[in-house]
Amino acid sequence: MIKLTAQRQAILDTINQSNQHWDAEVLARALSDAGHSIGIATIYRGLTALEDAGLIEAIHLGDKKRYERSDKSHHDHLVCRVCGAIEEFFDAHIEQRQHDVAKQYEFQMDGHQLLIFGTCKQCFNRTKQGEKA
Ligand SMILES: [Zn+2]
Ligand SMILES: [Zn+2]
Repeated sequence: MIKLTAQRQAILDTINQSNQHWDAEVLARALSDAGHSIGIATIYRGLTALEDAGLIEAIHLGDKKRYERSDKSHHDHLVCRVCGAIEEFFDAHIEQRQHDVAKQYEFQMDGHQLLIFGTCKQCFNRTKQGEKA
């Protein structure tokens, strides 16, 4: 059982009260703006402990992680490499195909993470405008 210190509770509450996919540094700023003084190392340790306890979900982006509430229904993510924006989507056909693949490989599937990397609409439009100028 995880020990929910006041600091970890504050981290958990902040994540649970939003739909964001939190980066540790952005979270640190939000906590500090809300009047909590929690060191960045404590935040990193807290996030790992909360993730291990299943209280928050982590999206693994190479050596970085983003965190979100664990009570959302299953979804996957589009990740913008330019601005870091993360958008959620759900596609029943993709979900079904993954189960089919697992079955085909006689693999006991218990979950998946799907990340689509690229450039979001805003960033793409900005580049196009830049080319025109
Ligand atoms: Zn973007
Ligand atoms: Zn999400």
